[in-house]
Amino acid sequence: MTELMDQGLDVEVMATDRSTSIQKIMREEFPNVQHQFDIWHTAKGFRKKMQSKGKKKANEIIHAWTRSVVNHMWFACATSMGDVNALKCRWKSITHHVCNVHEWTDENGEQHRCDHAPLTTQEQKKRMWMKKDSLAFQNLSSLVLDKRLLKDMDKMALFKHTGPLEVFHSALLKYLPKRQAFSFQGMRERCHLAILEHNENIIKRKQDTTKTGQPRFNQVYCKRSKQWVLKKVFTPHTTEFIDILIKKVMDRRRNPNIQFTMPTSSLALPQPSLPPNIAPVPKPPKEAAISSFQSRF
Ligand SMILES: [Zn+2]
Repeated sequence: MTELMDQGLDVEVMATDRSTSIQKIMREEFPNVQHQFDIWHTAKGFRKKMQSKGKKKANEIIHAWTRSVVNHMWFACATSMGDVNALKCRWKSITHHVCNVHEWTDENGEQHRCDHAPLTTQEQKKRMWMKKDSLAFQNLSSLVLDKRLLKDMDKMALFKHTGPLEVFHSALLKYLPKRQAFSFQGMRERCHLAILEHNENIIKRKQDTTKTGQPRFNQVYCKRSKQWVLKKVFTPHTTEFIDILIKKVMDRRRNPNIQFTMPTSSLALPQPSLPPNIAPVPKPPKEAAISSFQSRF
C-alpha cells in the first residue's frame, strides 16, 4: 500500500476481510483511505452462522431461509449507494419479510415497506413464513440484528467485493501456470501480460444480447445450493492487446531512426536455477527405500 501510494497512486478505498489487525493498520496508518469490508467474506460468514443454527430441529425453517437472507445481504449492500443508514434499514427489513409482513412502522413512527412488488396469494403460499413468537424467529433475529454485524455494515455501504480480483487471479494462471518456474523477469513480464488482458476485458466485456436485443442468460446447476441459477452471458473474451503489442514491436523494428545496439541473443531471459525438488532432506538410495518398504509386510 505504501509503495503504491509512493508511486503516486491515489488510493480512495481499500476492501479487505474483517481481520482486526488490518482494521487497526488502516485506522492508524491510512486514515485518509476509506476502509471497506469485502461483502463476499461477510456474506459467507453469515451463511455459515445461519447453516449452523438451521441444523437444530426447531430451527429447520432457518435452513429454508438461508439462501434468501444471504441474497438479501448482497442486495441491501448493492442498493445502498454508500448510505450506511439506508443499508442497515434495508437489511433489518428482512426480520419483517420472513414473517410475511411487508409494510410496518418502526420505533420512531416511520412507515416502511419491502422493495419487492406485492406478493400474489400463490407466491405467499409457496413460502414457509416464520411466526414472530417462535424460537426460530428469535434465533434468526439475533443473527440479523447482531451488534458486531451491524457495526461491520458501517464498512459495507460502498458495495466492495473482491470478485474481479478472483477473475484476475484465474486469468493470471494462463500466463503464470503454477507448475512451471520462471525467472523474476519472466514472472514480471507475464504478470504484465495478464494485467493487459484483464484490463482490456474488464472495460470492454458487457452482458451479451440476443438478436432481439434481450440480455442473454445461461442456466447453470449450482452444486452448493442444489439449485438451478441464472448466469449472465458476456460478450466473448478478447486479446486485442496482443495485436497492438505486435504492431508496436514491428513498427519499432522497421523504424530506421532506431538503432539496435544489443544483439537479439542477449534479450533471452535467463533460466531460473532451481533445486530438482522441494524436499529439505536428501533422497535415500532407492534400494534401501525398496527394502524398507518390503520389510513392512
Ligand atoms: Zn417483503
